[in-house]
Amino acid sequence: MDKIFIDRLQVFGRHGVMSEENALGQMFYISAELELSLSEAGRTDDLEKTVNYSDCCHTIKSICENNTFKLIETLAENTAQALLTGSPLVKAVKVRIDKPSAPIGLPLESVGVEIERRWNTAYIALGSNMGDKQKYIFNAVKAVDFDEKCRVKRVSDLIVTEPVSDIPQDDYLNGCMEIETLYDPFELLAFLNKTEAEADRVRKEKWGPRTLDLDIIFYNNEVIQTEKLTVPHPLMQDRLFVLEPLAQIAPHKVHPVLGKTVTELKSLVKN
Ligand code: ATP
Ligand code: MG
Ligand code: MG
Repeated sequence: MDKIFIDRLQVFGRHGVMSEENALGQMFYISAELELSLSEAGRTDDLEKTVNYSDCCHTIKSICENNTFKLIETLAENTAQALLTGSPLVKAVKVRIDKPSAPIGLPLESVGVEIERRWNTAYIALGSNMGDKQKYIFNAVKAVDFDEKCRVKRVSDLIVTEPVSDIPQDDYLNGCMEIETLYDPFELLAFLNKTEAEADRVRKEKWGPRTLDLDIIFYNNEVIQTEKLTVPHPLMQDRLFVLEPLAQIAPHKVHPVLGKTVTELKSLVKN
C-alpha cells in the first residue's frame, strides 16, 4: 500500500509522569506513516484525492500542544485515532513519538514509542423481536455509525424470520451490517453490548425475546475462541437468519475456519 509520511515533526508538549515535565514541558519529535492509495491523486493531480500532509502536521501539533498526558502511549493513541478518523481514505497509520529529553539521568539519543493502528472490517448480525423492531435496528445502525471508532459501510435488507427457540416469542426482524472499526474485537463486543443495553435489552433466559441483538459474525479474518467471545460466531453457518442478509452484503466473504464463502454456507443450510 502507498504511504504518506511525516518525519520527526518537532512539537513542544507537557507530557510526562513527573510534575516538572508537566510544568516545564519539552520537545517531542513525532513521526507518522499513513497508509492509503495514492494512485488516483497521482493520475488526476487533485488534492481532494489524497490527504493533505500539512493538515496532518497541524492535527499532530494541536493534539500534542493542547493536551497533557502522563504517557506518550496515550499521546500516540490519540494521534493515531485523529489521523485515522480525519479522512475516509486512510486505512492504517503508524505513529512514532520520540522523547529525547526524557528525565532519565543517563546518556541516550532518544526514547519513545511506536504504534500501528488500522480500520478493521467486521460483520454484525442485527436482530429484534420486541416492540418497534425496525426502529430498534435502525437506531442501532445509527448509534454504531455515530461512534467515532466505527463507520457503517453497508446494511442489508431486513427480513422477517421465525424464532429458533423453545421459548414462545414473536417473529424476528433480522439483518446484517458491514462496519469498519478501530475497536479491537473485545472492545467492539463491549460497545455492542452497551448499545443493546441502551435499547432496553434485558437478558433473562438464553435465546429469549429481545429488543436488540448485535452479534459479531466476522472480525477481519480473525479466529477468536475465549469464554467471552467466539469469532466467527459459532452458529452463523447454521442460521439462515444470519446467512440470508449476510449473503446480500458479503456473498464472497470466506469463512476463515470453514474455508467456504457466505453464499456456499447459505446453500449448505438449505440442502
Ligand atoms: P447467540 O450467540 O446464540 O446468538 P444470543 O445472541 O442470544 O445467542 P447474547 O445473550 O446476546 O446471546 O450473548 C451472550 C454472550 O455471548 C455475550 O455476553 C458475549 O459475551 C457472548 N459472545 C460470544 N461470542 C460472541 C459474538 N461473536 N458476538 C456476540 N456475543 C458473543
Ligand atoms: Mg444472537
Ligand atoms: Mg447476542
